[in-house]
Amino acid sequence: MKRPPHVSGPPDPSSIDTSERPFVLIWEVTQACNLACTHCRANAQPNRHPDELTTEEGKRLLDQAREFGPGQLVVLSGGDPLTRPDLVELVEYGTDLGLRMTLTPSGTSSLTPETISDLKDAGIRRLALSIDGANPESHDAFRGEPGTFEQTVEAAKAARDVGLPLQINTTVSAQTVDELPELRALVSELGAVLWSVFFLVPVGRGRILDPITPERAEAVMQWLSDVSDDAPFGVKTTEAPFYRRVSAQQRRDASDAPKADAIGRRNGILAGDGFAFVSHVGELYPSGFLPKSAGTVRDGGLVDGYRNSDLFQSLRDRDELRGKCGACEFRHVCGGSRSRAYATAGDPLASDPLCPYVPNGYEGPMPNERASGD
Ligand code: SF4
Repeated sequence: MKRPPHVSGPPDPSSIDTSERPFVLIWEVTQACNLACTHCRANAQPNRHPDELTTEEGKRLLDQAREFGPGQLVVLSGGDPLTRPDLVELVEYGTDLGLRMTLTPSGTSSLTPETISDLKDAGIRRLALSIDGANPESHDAFRGEPGTFEQTVEAAKAARDVGLPLQINTTVSAQTVDELPELRALVSELGAVLWSVFFLVPVGRGRILDPITPERAEAVMQWLSDVSDDAPFGVKTTEAPFYRRVSAQQRRDASDAPKADAIGRRNGILAGDGFAFVSHVGELYPSGFLPKSAGTVRDGGLVDGYRNSDLFQSLRDRDELRGKCGACEFRHVCGGSRSRAYATAGDPLASDPLCPYVPNGYEGPMPNERASGD
């Protein structure tokens, strides 16, 4: 049944106090997936985990998400969310609560135009698809399965045909970085509204890929900042908040870098600070790439864990950052990837080793690429 048009719009981002609610709540509805992507954070498995949140537990989680306030953005991710037979039911339930439900399915043969149409009717607001290589050879090699490039492009066209806004997610690694200009053209051709460029964090199967160097990352950020100036779609980075430092430097002197305002708002979000992740078994993490638990949502602990846990509170205090991120004049607009700090140094408050910037006057230790023994 086609659902009535949703009336509530997104909350004004400038009105959101990220110590009270996340901009983005990700729920990893399952780790099951038929692909075997080389970068997979979730170490996705062919079968669903026996302790995965049930349909009823999932609905209780969405009830909790509603407590953050109207229009809360919820991203259903995986694994492949389409491996859950109750997916449409969960989307409808969240939509009826007034949540803004979005989805990141895998590019498989399950993602048919009919499925996309059903999900739109259930209330999905945006479809996010991953394209990591600019052609079938490189994308399919990255995804570990032939045919996924073509299936993903067809799904993108199907989303456009039913008027569903499209987001393209791209993982940047040493293996794919040279294809970014071609990918930019493809994102435009597919009519996406947003290009989310993810900089590899060495967790899960992502450990076997080579990250790009800090110097190359800086050049990519400068290029992305230029792309964002004239592209017909928005550009955002994931796990590379120093994109905001690069943009600020390109537009003004560092001395004019924007500061946090009275309620601590910044230009972007970080793990635990505007961003939260619920695992397939209900653990609350600051991010899927920062698997440090602040408790379980099975006992109703989502909102309290986000607002009051020591872990989330420390991640929101930029003055607790260590090393060069702690000394950096851009820490309130950037703050560094807390996930990469955790993955490489074992400390979520350490410096982000992907950023080559050295703050004025800083003479302390520089971050290592990998923690010892990694
Ligand atoms: S040093 Fe840290 S806070 Fe400063 S720009 Fe780099 S990542 Fe951001």
